[in-house]
Amino acid sequence: MVSRVIPVDAFDLVVFGATGDLACRKILPGLYRRYLGGQVTERCRIIGAARGPMTRAEWQAMIAQALSEHVAKDKLKADKVAGFLERLEFVAVDARGGQGWADLAAMMREGVVRAFYFSVAPDLFGPLAERLRAHNVADSGSRIVVEKPFGHDLATARELNATLAQHFDETQIYRIDHYLGKETVQNLMAVRFANILFEPLWNAQYVDHVQITVAETVGVAGRGAYYDRAGAMRDMIQNHMMQLLCLIAMEPPYHFDPDAVRDEKLKVIRALDPVRPEDVVRGQYEAGEGLSYSDEAGNPDSRTESFMAMKVHISNWRWKGTPFYLRTGKRLKARVSEIAVFFKQPPHTIFDDASGWQENLLVIRLQPDEGMNLKVMIKEPGPGGMRLVRVPLDMSFAEALGAEGSDMPDAYERLIMDVIRGNQTLFMRGDEVEAAWSWADPVIAAHEGRRPLAYAQGSSGPLASDRLMARDGRVWRELH
Ligand code: NAP
Repeated sequence: MVSRVIPVDAFDLVVFGATGDLACRKILPGLYRRYLGGQVTERCRIIGAARGPMTRAEWQAMIAQALSEHVAKDKLKADKVAGFLERLEFVAVDARGGQGWADLAAMMREGVVRAFYFSVAPDLFGPLAERLRAHNVADSGSRIVVEKPFGHDLATARELNATLAQHFDETQIYRIDHYLGKETVQNLMAVRFANILFEPLWNAQYVDHVQITVAETVGVAGRGAYYDRAGAMRDMIQNHMMQLLCLIAMEPPYHFDPDAVRDEKLKVIRALDPVRPEDVVRGQYEAGEGLSYSDEAGNPDSRTESFMAMKVHISNWRWKGTPFYLRTGKRLKARVSEIAVFFKQPPHTIFDDASGWQENLLVIRLQPDEGMNLKVMIKEPGPGGMRLVRVPLDMSFAEALGAEGSDMPDAYERLIMDVIRGNQTLFMRGDEVEAAWSWADPVIAAHEGRRPLAYAQGSSGPLASDRLMARDGRVWRELH
């Protein structure tokens, strides 16, 4: 039942930052899995680029090691690994200087898709774009893939968009948000727009509220310096969670077409109300089993939030009156990313209060146990009279597809294949990113410099986050 594998066109994919963490942990292992799956063919090449110095053989050895660490053992087939490593080339290039650019230009083949993955620090995005053009490495059909973070605020995002636009057309720019590459996120669009069942209920009349949670058990160790400049709002809410909110809240696009989908997402962001300061809770984990946030960040007086919860309203006909609650944090009690859509009570109940009624709930789980679950009321089976019980209807792909389901491409693989196919549907457009910053900037400014509330490691965040819900007569879903 898994969709057929259709090989992508031949490509030259240049990975800038080829020796970095992201390339070794996600990008190259993902490309290997697509090679193993038959989607990346012998006519494809991956050209690693970094300052080095490094030879092709050394990079191949580095990637062989990375595959052994980041690809499941049963997928590591010696002949396939060897075949994949043959597809790799390396060139020493300096994004800020002139070194290596002529070599790279000479390596590019005619008649194949050219793509350039910017897996480097964001301050190199502009210099790379400029040199790709100046040295005739990229042409008008080439694609560039830009990693997060895309800007630090509206002003820097605008500047970056303007810089990229000097060298590349918007149709060539793929701003990656790996949340959009998840199977379940795409399944959400299928469930919403390929069924008649949900859309009639998908509005303020029938949806009580929506909870979007991205909880992590890890802290910021290892990337404290970056995180301390960003915080939960910039690192998670402005981008990943905003994208999830858009997919839940958007109107049906007229067609499943990149710009039609992105137009609808943009309308959602533009319809967001300003967030009231009293609807925001910011937290910072204190010392517990591990170091405190400020110790991990190396900034004793840090005011950066490692937890954020907020209530968001969308002012349009569909959603006016239905709150969306967002919650994200580090060092929490469980690792969970999910969207939960809580439906309202039926207008009139014919059953006794004691019968056990609970609301219908659609849970879209991104991790762990990716899948979708609709909770519905049925009669409790057996002779005990009319008692109700809520049971899950499992709509997750893994079960429905049996063992084959476990071979799903991960988010990065899927998105890189979309780049090669030239499909921008799951990538953020420049105006979307700017609109998200326009909404986020005032929220950040309202709390800048304020000390976040302390919370215990392994908890669900500050108690004030529970109070935010209790105030509205609601509770967060348990983190588990
Ligand atoms: P990293 O481990 O620090 O690697 C940086 C890479 O860039 C190295 O290969 C480095 O090699 C190369 N580089 C540095 N300066 C260069 C220059 N002047 N010219 C050419 N290459 C240069 O970084 P990373 O963690 O892989 O992250 C890469 C990007 O992905 C960043 O934008 C980050 O925000 C984003 N990202 C990372 C993750 C993650 O999990 N790591 C997740 C989401 C987003 P040389 O020093 O040899 O040049």
